[in-house]
Amino acid sequence: MGLFRRQPTQEPTPIDGVDCLYLDLDGVVYQGPDAIPHAVDSIRSTGVRSIYLTNNASRTDAEVAAHLSSFGLDVQPDDVVTSPQAAMRLLAEHLGPGDPVLVVGGAGIVVEVEARGWQVVRTAAEQPKAVVQGFHPSVGWKELAEASFALQAGRTGSGIPWIATNGDWTIPVAGGIAPGNGTLVSAVHTAVGRLAEFAGKPERHMYDVATERFGAQTPAMVGDRLDTDILGARRAGIRSIMVLTGIDRGASLIGADESMRPDHVLEDLRGLTQPIAPLRETLETSTGDTYFEVGAAAVRRSGIDITLVRAGARPVDTIRAACAAVWTADRPVLGLRIADELLAL
Ligand SMILES: [Mg+2]
Repeated sequence: MGLFRRQPTQEPTPIDGVDCLYLDLDGVVYQGPDAIPHAVDSIRSTGVRSIYLTNNASRTDAEVAAHLSSFGLDVQPDDVVTSPQAAMRLLAEHLGPGDPVLVVGGAGIVVEVEARGWQVVRTAAEQPKAVVQGFHPSVGWKELAEASFALQAGRTGSGIPWIATNGDWTIPVAGGIAPGNGTLVSAVHTAVGRLAEFAGKPERHMYDVATERFGAQTPAMVGDRLDTDILGARRAGIRSIMVLTGIDRGASLIGADESMRPDHVLEDLRGLTQPIAPLRETLETSTGDTYFEVGAAAVRRSGIDITLVRAGARPVDTIRAACAAVWTADRPVLGLRIADELLAL
């Protein structure tokens, strides 16, 4: 099945040449109250500066740093980039010193607004120059209504800016899946008939905040969600590494739109410093079939059929082989017949 040179010690790792690691939190560092297996030791052993990027607007950078430190990571508040910080970057384009800002949200936003010398207001009657909206459990109808009034008041004039920290439709909490900031922004949108500007992932602003703060030249983003972490990294033009310990798994990866395909896929964060298992592609000229192999895993593409020939020792090897078979096909994923056993990975 073609020439294959086994030189694993010479293969690069996913973070070769990387000068700064940007890490998502939920599904990457922790899941609920617990650290994800191998995550903390792996992050500590990279030898690369680690920065944490979170779309969650309810907590301050200091609160996030304290939480991560409780797992044994060495994290200072400055090592955390929050979606409210990215929102401030957008607000700064519109506001002057001391301008009033209507805040829908909690401490995660309030401390950032105050740190820049703007005045936090909570009602439209206080004539805010902008609205910034992020998730906090305390946000209710009254807050959404005040935001709507402020945005309507501006609609007939110049229209004041409306910055949303992030557009996540849902958030996972202890009791289950709950409405996220995107859902609450949508409620205001329904009332005012205009669209918010979004600051968090998958927009590139948080990546730009991190890169400016640390002067990173060759950063890489590590995330568990294709439609936020990986898409955002692709938009920011930086290396993207997906880890299979969170939301997205094999099926979503195999079927991923071209815009959100990561550069690397890892089973868990130990893979950050391990050599990348080579991908081998072999065309069998007698049949026209193409074989994609990673480690012991082998996947065949025969016309529109993508099938499993042999499972790898690790699911990630089989997933990578299947991704290669699908992503290099001459037709979109919906035009292919992918074996159920691959989509179950
Ligand atoms: Mg995540």
